[in-house]
Amino acid sequence: MSEQLKENALSPAADAGAERRTFEREVLGELIYLHAGVLKRMPWVQLLLATGVVLLAYGSVPIAWWCTWGLLTVAAECLRAHHAGNILKQDQLGNPEATHRLLIALAAGVGATVGLSALLFMPYMPLPNRALLMVILTAMPAAGVSVAVSSRQILAAYALLILVPAGLSWALLYPEHVLTAAGLTALYWWFIISVAGDGEQLLRRSVAIRRERDRMLSDLERRNAEVRVAVAKAEQSSQARARVLAAASHDLRQPLHALSVYSAVLVANPAADSLPEVARNIDRLVRNLGGLLHGLLDLSRLSADQYVPDRQRISLDRLAAEVCNEYEAQAHEKQLRLLRRLEHVRLLDDAVAIGRILRNLLDNAIKYTDSGEVTVATYLSGDAAVLVVEDTGKGIPPDEQSRIFEEFYQLDNPGRDHGRGVGLGLAIVQRLCELIGAEIALTSRPGIGSQFRLAFHSVAVDAAHRPAQAIPNSVHLLGKRVYIVDDEADILRAMRALLNSWGMEVETALSSPQANGLFGQTGSPDLLIVDLRLGDGEHGVSMANRLRRAHGDFPVLVVTGETGPEAVRLVNAAGYPMLQKPIIADVLHTAVCSALAA
Ligand code: ADP
Repeated sequence: MSEQLKENALSPAADAGAERRTFEREVLGELIYLHAGVLKRMPWVQLLLATGVVLLAYGSVPIAWWCTWGLLTVAAECLRAHHAGNILKQDQLGNPEATHRLLIALAAGVGATVGLSALLFMPYMPLPNRALLMVILTAMPAAGVSVAVSSRQILAAYALLILVPAGLSWALLYPEHVLTAAGLTALYWWFIISVAGDGEQLLRRSVAIRRERDRMLSDLERRNAEVRVAVAKAEQSSQARARVLAAASHDLRQPLHALSVYSAVLVANPAADSLPEVARNIDRLVRNLGGLLHGLLDLSRLSADQYVPDRQRISLDRLAAEVCNEYEAQAHEKQLRLLRRLEHVRLLDDAVAIGRILRNLLDNAIKYTDSGEVTVATYLSGDAAVLVVEDTGKGIPPDEQSRIFEEFYQLDNPGRDHGRGVGLGLAIVQRLCELIGAEIALTSRPGIGSQFRLAFHSVAVDAAHRPAQAIPNSVHLLGKRVYIVDDEADILRAMRALLNSWGMEVETALSSPQANGLFGQTGSPDLLIVDLRLGDGEHGVSMANRLRRAHGDFPVLVVTGETGPEAVRLVNAAGYPMLQKPIIADVLHTAVCSALAA
């Protein structure tokens, strides 16, 4: 058997041994405290006893003898009581075994002083007094049973040193009783020790019951604490949900109201020169609405643990450089310097999640900085890879620094102007960090700037890594043929208008049979945009797969209003890019370009 196996095989027995030793020490400790408690009162009892014995000896025994004896026996008992007082002052006994040994020795000493009375006084006493002294001396060990509080050793020492001198004195005075005296003394000694043994069992049982009760109590307390934490969490999350719902319904109602006003304006046939402004406003409102809905959907998906991180070998510095490029124009517009301090760091992590985190942080850094610079840095620090987004912006007051990670929590936006964000970015960042196991830390000083620092513990040691795919900046869309399959006629009309405005040739189908007819008549397109759930039962993904098998490869873009994990899994499994409705025109444009470039 290997050492490890031996250790494992022995450990339960070792545990049981340790547990038994702890129990024994606890029983001993309990016994010592109880015994010490009784000893505190013993000098008075001993004084009474000594007085009784002295009265018996008075007249027949030399005065010096009983005086000395009386003082000796009371002094011995006082010494024991003093030691007991010291024990009771201690909260915990350092070495209960040693204390117990000392108490046995003290019991023996006191017993010896009591027993001495038989040897000293009996030869001088008349028979009735001798008999009475024997009665007192044999009664003492019986009383000692309760004083010794179940310690057989203490009782044995005490009783032995009383009974042996008493028996011996009697035997010396009456040699014909020697055997009876010896036998009775031994029997009596054994009997009182066995009575003390029963007491010891009782004590053990009560200690065991107390231990069990304490264990159950602490178990109960632990569970109570767990329940309290769970209840507090549930309350917190229900409060957070109510807050999100209230904020979301407010934030959704405002732009919808504005949109209904603009649609009334359009229905009323306004002057042609006011149309561009109405269109711009509608576009802005729709973008805001789309942004809000996306944020909410993201958050609900991330909170419902429907996001499974996709860990790949990625270059953090390259990813950061790409995201910085996306924000260069935005920074430039505000005359901010966008600095990159990117050391080479490779991770085994989710590029999409890290990209979204960085976009949110960078977007905020630029948004909340009026002058100076925004810096993005990547470097290794110990075992962790670090990504820092730092700005010289307005900063965040210390008491707001934890609250800004709550949903819809914004500073300085009491009117909830959506042009200044919706307050979901950092909530999403925090949730994503939790999901991929990254730590986020914020340092900020109002008027000086903010620093968001992310630590990833997924540094890749392997040199090989998959290069990140570049997203095409622009692809020629003019004249490209795109088929759109969706069971909503309104969506088909709107999409046709939008894609036509980009110069694309658009064919639409409301159902699978219509799509089949389209492919039969005009062959395969440059791009198929298909809704995931089609009214006639066939799934968008399976339809795309079927048509690709029948008509050859062509790029596919799936759009869906579904938010459940099933839909995401299905589309991911097929390997098609997916867009969530409502789709903002820019996002659709980028997705169409990417699909065509691929
Ligand atoms: P949003 O930016 O859409 O308002 P966020 O959740 O991203 O929502 O941020 C919440 C709030 O935190 C913001 O309203 C802003 O007040 C504050 N904040 C976030 N990042 C910064 C930053 N870099 N500098 C100053 N304030 C910030």
